[in-house]
Amino acid sequence: MRVLIGGGSGFVGRELTRLLRDKGHEVTLISRQPGPGRITWKELESRGLPPCDGAVNLAGENVLNPLRWWNERYKKDLFSSRIDTTKALSEAIAASSSPPHSWVLVSGVACYKPSLTAEYTEDSEWTPFDLLSQLVKEWEAAAFLPENAAKTTKQVVIRAGAVLGRDGGAMKQMLLPFWLGLGGTLGSGSQPFPWIHVSDLAGIIARSLEPPANTEAPNPSPQVYNGVAPAITTNHEFTKELGRILRRPTILPVPEFVLSAMLGSERAVILTQGQKVIPLKTLESGYQFKYPDLTLALKQIVGS
Ligand code: NDP
Repeated sequence: MRVLIGGGSGFVGRELTRLLRDKGHEVTLISRQPGPGRITWKELESRGLPPCDGAVNLAGENVLNPLRWWNERYKKDLFSSRIDTTKALSEAIAASSSPPHSWVLVSGVACYKPSLTAEYTEDSEWTPFDLLSQLVKEWEAAAFLPENAAKTTKQVVIRAGAVLGRDGGAMKQMLLPFWLGLGGTLGSGSQPFPWIHVSDLAGIIARSLEPPANTEAPNPSPQVYNGVAPAITTNHEFTKELGRILRRPTILPVPEFVLSAMLGSERAVILTQGQKVIPLKTLESGYQFKYPDLTLALKQIVGS
């Protein structure tokens, strides 16, 4: 299978590329930078979709970029880096004379309203309630294929929780303070912390890229999968487990007002609030998690 991955040079993309190449598939990245094995977004727009059997979009400015202040320019980049790239790919797929059989977008669980009690599956109704949920709405809408194209290309949206792995995402920023014994709960600590090991997210994407079974009727709407581990965890449980595995104290909580002052309150909610997200459809699809519980996932990450 030939797979095109927008934003494939990043944390999730590197894991996905490794997995697909190990399975014998060919991978081409779409990037802002030209290079071997890549095309640029400009080339995609000017030349159209290169021949491929599956396409994925993982492009997006990092929401927790510690080097960027929370201001209008950054917010605009968060939106345009996701929506413009997703639109460029979905339009190229719709215009292609030999479109791929599968088109996968990885979005986020920020569409579900934070709650200590509500549980969300892929079927849960939601409407935007803040900036990040509005972002998810516009991002997923940009992936939507017109009816004709949806007859030939299966559309999948994977809503990912915090992706855990050694080489990127939140863990990369957390490991040093935890090693130094400076780790602690964020905000109240009672907020749910939906997470997934990067290897499982890559596994769910790879599965979604497989051609639809002959018996599957074309679906005009995307299939949605929650990209989170089945174990529901709070921030307190996560913090204590990471400290235990690293054999470091975790007695220094970080108050919500400090995070809001550092990150901006609209962005700090990613850390201070959370949702109980259930990967119901993901499990029903037959996907078997390699890291269904936190201890297994953290031991793999910290031990590697
Ligand atoms: P990365 O932060 O590693 O970024 C992925 C790629 O996006 C980069 O390698 C880069 O590719 C491209 N990119 C970065 N900034 C921009 C920009 N301003 N404009 C266009 N392209 C840009 O992301 P991850 O691999 O961690 O995540 C993949 C996707 O999954 C993202 O869309 C992310 O929002 C989503 N997600 C991630 C979570 C996580 O915890 N990591 C959680 C939930 C969702 P290049 O430089 O080659 O152009």
